[in-house]
Amino acid sequence: MVVDDLDFARAADMRPIEEIADKAGIPAQAIEPYGRHMAKVDVTKLPPGGRGKLVLVSAMSPTPPGEGKTTMSIGLADAIARTGRRTIVAVREPSLGPVLGMKGGAAGGGRSQVLPMEDINLHFTGDFHAITTANNTLAAIVENSLYQGNPLGIDARRITWRRVLDVNDRALRNVVVGLGSPTDGVPHEGGFDITAASEIMAVLCLATDLADLKARLARITVAYTGDRRPVTVGDLGAQGALTALLRHAIKPNLVQTIAGTPALVHGGPFGNIAHGCNSVIATTTARALAEVVVTEAGFGADLGAEKFLDIKTRAGDAVPDAVVLVATIRALKYHGGVPAEEVTTPDAAAVEAGLPNLTRHVENIRTFGLEPVIGLNSFPTDTEDERAVVHQWSERLGVRCAVADIWARGGGDDGGDEFAAAVLDALDGSDTAATFTRLYEPSTGLEEKIRTIARTIYRADDVEFAAAARRRLAEFEENGWGEMAVCMAKTQYSFSDDGSRLGAPEGFTLHVRDLLARTGAGFVVALTGSIMTMPGLPVSPAFERIDLDDDGQIVGLS
Ligand code: ADP
Ligand code: MG
Repeated sequence: MVVDDLDFARAADMRPIEEIADKAGIPAQAIEPYGRHMAKVDVTKLPPGGRGKLVLVSAMSPTPPGEGKTTMSIGLADAIARTGRRTIVAVREPSLGPVLGMKGGAAGGGRSQVLPMEDINLHFTGDFHAITTANNTLAAIVENSLYQGNPLGIDARRITWRRVLDVNDRALRNVVVGLGSPTDGVPHEGGFDITAASEIMAVLCLATDLADLKARLARITVAYTGDRRPVTVGDLGAQGALTALLRHAIKPNLVQTIAGTPALVHGGPFGNIAHGCNSVIATTTARALAEVVVTEAGFGADLGAEKFLDIKTRAGDAVPDAVVLVATIRALKYHGGVPAEEVTTPDAAAVEAGLPNLTRHVENIRTFGLEPVIGLNSFPTDTEDERAVVHQWSERLGVRCAVADIWARGGGDDGGDEFAAAVLDALDGSDTAATFTRLYEPSTGLEEKIRTIARTIYRADDVEFAAAARRRLAEFEENGWGEMAVCMAKTQYSFSDDGSRLGAPEGFTLHVRDLLARTGAGFVVALTGSIMTMPGLPVSPAFERIDLDDDGQIVGLS
């Protein structure tokens, strides 16, 4: 019989959510249960807390199924909790796009999962639906303003606000709305993004409280007038209604790991096309409650960690005290030139050949004044020879490295003890408040920020801006948006904008196609290569394996 993530999840003894809240130090009046095993936390009812140490989990450049950052974050939190420290893990909410598409669920794996995994992966507490609805309500408000005499002078050809759905549907990327009779609205081109890429998602994840959420919503730019002046949510007077739609979504969700460690699962921007980490509110809440908080940033460290360090740490108190880079033998072989379908065949030479990818991520984390710990996520197909190659490399680089068997054995058992010891050692020895530096200052122009990220983190020789991107650069600077941060939208598979250039590519040019202004989130999205803000489904999507059996149980979700 195949043992999949659901089998591990079902074997667990889930505790009532009140018990988990108690363990996390959350008083009963701050808990709003959603069923028996999930709850919203009303952070306004929490007593003042401390400031726990923060561990950021990132990774080398991944293979398509992922290298196990979420799994390792959960397993690490369980293993640290085992040492007696109050620990909380803070991760993102899964999006239905990947759950039903290529990547599958995002609630961890094996014995390192958050529960109830079926609910967390499918709909959860409705936050994505609330964000989708707020986003599309705003689209309707823009259309209505245009239709009802257009008092703000919106240029129908310059509406930048797009609709969203939590679905991978490439056919919705470009649409025309307003077709029909004159009473059916004003015709114009538009399109859909996935909910994870909505600016409402970014705003919800970066807001520090309800007042900040409302202020950020008011600053969102939705369109331009005929004379190119930006039109904001504040101009439309819609920030109040949008905040009302998000009043529950902004509260972090409390659940538990298989080992019973409290977990806050909240917000879900992707790491490639969005800023890639759970909400600031969840992270600060976790730090107020726990001694150690483990959190994850999406995809490779060139994307998730860079955005965490340059974007999230500016919005909230989130400078990490330690950084983990998850590596796998399979990803090292993949970057060493082995095709994806052959990565389970032992090949120590290919592991060696893939190490330059990991080395570059190590160097990049050090650029921020932080010292990484390598977490080698153990797979049953790994050999001792292959692991020895990684250990020798880590000694050469002077970087801490530990094997974690938290998928098969769980961090609640002893599978993560060595890993936890390495991370705690790094936590004890670090003073990142003194060493941490961001990559750029707000006052550096937008073009220079993009060039800095491309040069320093990706190691591009040059950046080429397409005509549309050049125009936006000029317009954005003119609008006074030059101080905003930059959120790169780039493939997760390569340091370059070409997903087939694995390893540690050199001598390439990064192509910036277009720029999007996210004035509520406070960043400009730079679209590189052919990355899309609405993904499509692959040839063999995960939904083909998902079913509900005769007993009403979900099967095939992993
Ligand atoms: P990421 O967060 O980096 O995208 P995940 O933690 O979601 O990765 O893991 C991706 C998939 O790989 C999951 O289905 C998980 O069950 C599986 N996985 C992770 N670690 C292991 C492991 N050590 N052995 C087997 N499968 C694993
Ligand atoms: Mg993940």
